[in-house]
This record gives sequence, C-alpha cells and structure tokens, in this order.
Amino acid sequence: MAAPNPTPDGRSAGAPPAPARQGHLGLVPAVLVFGALLLALFTGTSLLVGKALMDIEQLAADTRNVLLPGLIRHQGTAVNIERLRGFGEVVLTTPDAERRRRVRLAAYILASDSVFEQESRVHQTIRLAYQAILFVARTREEQENEEEWIANRLETIEARIEALAREADAERIRRLYRAERLLTSVKHAATPLELARLEAAFNAVAIHLPEESSGWREVIERRRAIINAGETADARWAAARQTLEALADSLSTRAALRASDRSGLIVELAEQARLVGTGALLTLLAVLLILALLWRRHILLPILAATRGLEQVQSTHHPVALPHVRIRELDAINRAVENFGRMLAQLHDANTQLRRLSDRDGLTGIPNRRRFDTAYANLSKLARRHSRPLAVIMMDIDFFKAYNDTYGHLQGDDCLKRVAHAIERVAHRTGDVVARYGGEEFVAVLPETDAPGALRIAERMQAAVADLAIEHRSSTVAGHVTVSMGVAASGPEHPLDPEALVDTADQALLRAKRSGRNRICTATDGKRCEPEGTPGH
Ligand code: GH3
Ligand code: MG
Ligand code: MG
Repeated sequence: MAAPNPTPDGRSAGAPPAPARQGHLGLVPAVLVFGALLLALFTGTSLLVGKALMDIEQLAADTRNVLLPGLIRHQGTAVNIERLRGFGEVVLTTPDAERRRRVRLAAYILASDSVFEQESRVHQTIRLAYQAILFVARTREEQENEEEWIANRLETIEARIEALAREADAERIRRLYRAERLLTSVKHAATPLELARLEAAFNAVAIHLPEESSGWREVIERRRAIINAGETADARWAAARQTLEALADSLSTRAALRASDRSGLIVELAEQARLVGTGALLTLLAVLLILALLWRRHILLPILAATRGLEQVQSTHHPVALPHVRIRELDAINRAVENFGRMLAQLHDANTQLRRLSDRDGLTGIPNRRRFDTAYANLSKLARRHSRPLAVIMMDIDFFKAYNDTYGHLQGDDCLKRVAHAIERVAHRTGDVVARYGGEEFVAVLPETDAPGALRIAERMQAAVADLAIEHRSSTVAGHVTVSMGVAASGPEHPLDPEALVDTADQALLRAKRSGRNRICTATDGKRCEPEGTPGH
C-alpha cells in the first residue's frame, strides 16, 4: 500500500494542518520593534541633552546680556557712592569754604545722575546722603559766621578791657584779663565738656565783674550753639555715611550673590547634561549589547545552523533535525532545510534503487549487459594501466530453442535463472562480474586472471551447470542442460586489447559450438575445439 505523499513541511498530506507555533515572532515586526526602540532611545537622549544644552546657552546669553551689564552698573553705582562719601567727608572736614562749595556742587551733579534713578532704594539713599551733605555744608557756613561774630566780639571785649584797665584796681584788672583769656579759650572749645569747664571758670570770675561781663556770656552761648550744630552735622553725616556704606556693601554682596547663583546654576545644568548624556550613552550601549546578543541568538546562530544543516544534507544525503527558533521566517527556513534533507534522502534512495534495477537483468537478477559493459570498461582500463591479466568467458546454453520448444517458455525462464545463479556463484572473487549478455548467453569478466585460471573457472562453471542436472530431452549432446564456452585472456604474451578480448572469447565460443557444443574453447585450444571434432565430456 502506498504511503501518503509527504507535504513540503514534512507532514502527511492527509493530516490536518498543525496550529501555528506559539511565541513565534515575524522578522519584519522584530526589526521594526528593534528599530523603533533604538530610534526612541536616540531621540530621548538627544532631546534631554539638547534641552540641557539649550538651557545652558540661554543662561549664558542672559548672563552676557543682562547679568554682566547689571553687575557693571552696580559696580559703577558703588564707585559713585564711594565718591559721594568722599565728598561728604571733605565738606565735613575742610576749613576751605570755596573748596566746600565746589565739592557740594560736584556732589549735587553726582547725586542727580540718572543711573541712580533706576533703583528706588539707591535713589532714596543717594538723595538722603546729598541732603546730609547740604545740611553739613550749611551748618559749616553758619558755624563760620558765628565764629566770625565771636572773633569780632572778642576784639570788642579786648578794647573794653584795655579802657577799663586804665582806671581799675589791680585785683579787678587781673579778673578782667582772666575773663578775657577764658573767653578766648571758649573761642576754641571743641566739646561741650570743655565748654562747660570754661563756662564754670568764667562764671567764677564774672561774679565779681557783674557790670562788665553781663554781655560777654553770649560768646559762650554762641560757642555752645556752634558745638551743638557741629555735633548735629556730625551725627547727620555719620548716619548718611552708614547708609551709603550699607548700600555699597549690599550692592557688592548682591552682585557677588547673583554672579555666584548664576555660575552655580550653569554648573548644575552642565552637571545634569553630563549625567543625562552619560546615562543615555550607557543605556544605549547596554541596549545595543542586548540587541547584539538577541541578534546573535535568534538570527545569526539559526542562520549558521540552517547553513550547516544544508551543507550536511548536501554532503551526506541524510535528513537533519534543526531546532525550532523564535523568528518565524528563520524557523520556516529550518523546516524547509529539514524537508529538503528528507526529500533528498528519499531521492537518493530512489536513485540507488533505480540504478540497482537498471544494472540488473530483470529475469535472472544477475548484472545485465549494461552493467557488464561499464564494469568491463573499468576493469580493462585498470588491467592495462597496471599491466595485469584480464580474462573473459562467453557462454551459451546449448539447444535452448529446443528446450523452450520442449518444456515451454516459463520453464525456459526458470532454466535461465538457475543457470545464471549457478555460474555466478562460481566467480565469487572481488571484481568478478558475471552478467547475462543477452538471450541464453552469459559473459564473465575476471580481473587478475590469466588464461589457465580462466579455463579453470570456465570448467567449474560448466560443472556447476551440469550439476544442476536440468533435464533436456531434446539435447543431442547430453540428457541435461549444458553450456558451451569461449575463453580469452590477456597476459604478458597477449597485451590487452579490450575489444579484441571479447571478440576472441566470442570466436572461441563459436568454435565450441561448431566443434560439437558442451565444451570449452580457448584462444589457443587443442583439437577438441576443431570443427566437426570429437565431442568432449
Ligand atoms: P545453439 O546450441 O546453437 O546455441 O542453439 P540454440 O537453440 O540454443 O540457439 P538459438 O540462437 O537458435 O536459440 C536461442 C533461443 O533462446 C531462442 C529463444 O527462444 C531462446 N531464448 C532467448 N531468450 C530467452 C528467454 O528470455 N526466455 C526463454 N524461455 N527463452 C529464451
Ligand atoms: Mg545463442
Ligand atoms: Mg544456445
């Protein structure tokens, strides 16, 4: 019974289709997924790093366009504040009225600078400082006027004392001069304490000079007013100076803080960009490594296995078993290679069978004429190349037509088979080939066999056929089936001519027939092979 034809996937044609294997991945989706993964990774990295770099660029531009001009402006403001402070000090300390006036003017110009108006706190402080300078300058002017009044008054008092001294007694004169010296000291008194001490001393003297000194006390009062005004101006300026210094400090600190903040921010962003870049790069490398491993495992190794399987199939003609792989297309290739292996093996078996059949004779099963021709061509070439002997035996069943006529063709076939197997068994050496030459004729080619050797084999064959003892009533040479044989051999004396050797054997067979049948004739045989000779055996 014929087996069902296998389908290309190795299943029986009648079997239901196998369900698609679970977990199989198509090559195109797999490549798309990998590509999308890489693209997403590249894009994400670029966006993150790009964002950080853009932030840094923005900050740098902002620093250049806004922060640095601001810092320079602050620096200029701080310098101007310092100059204003210097002006204040000059106005407070210089005794030169003209210089005070010039410096006050310069302070006015500086304080009116529009730069200060950009920040209200600065503007406010500068305005207050300028007002303090103005106050100090005015106070200084008033003080000088008062000091001038005191100097004039002292001159008047001096003149008065000189007038009085002419008519007063010695004690009185001494007191007058003492009072005048005290008032002259008052003119230079710088502190309230000093003034109070001088005032007490003056009062002690003045109590004895009630008429003369009554108006002189005004010098002390005016000096007190000068000292008080000086202290007020000092205090006002000290407050203004403190405010200016605080402002200058705050501006410098603020500028330093802003610069520090900004540089800190830039460093932080750069650090972020570095971290993101490094992280993304490492992730990218890791993903690439994983992809390379996946590619090796699921694509490269299956392709190599399929290629090796294909080579193995082609070299051995045997089926191979390949593992199932996850990529659908590669799995299909593996299955195709397996099917190819199976089909090639079947084809190879069929070819071997076919070749064996085409080499064999259909009736007897021994090699046929075609096989003999091929074997003879090869053996004769070898014998000639190595100068070795080669022998050919041609044989023919005697009166076989008559056998057929007598026993029928079926029995004739049977007789042919038995004779064929009998003679084949005799030539059993490696290389010996016994074939059906055609009809009831057989041929044997015997390598490494000289003429005497070939004759011995022929005799054994003849005996083997005789031993079969197949009855042959119609034979005129014996009561059983017999064969006639022609033997030819090459050797040292007869160099091999392949065509001539077969021909010689054929001639010898002809002579065997003509000389009475059931005998063996050789190329150089004796009288038993002469035509019409006495029958042998
Ligand atoms: P000879 O002794 O001179 O060889 O006479 P012969 O009758 O053997 O020779 P011939 O050539 O006259 O006849 C050969 C016969 O062999 C003719 C044919 O019927 C018979 N024969 C050839 N092939 C087969 C075969 O395959 N089967 C059978 N049964 N007979 C065959
Ligand atoms: Mg014949
Ligand atoms: Mg015959």
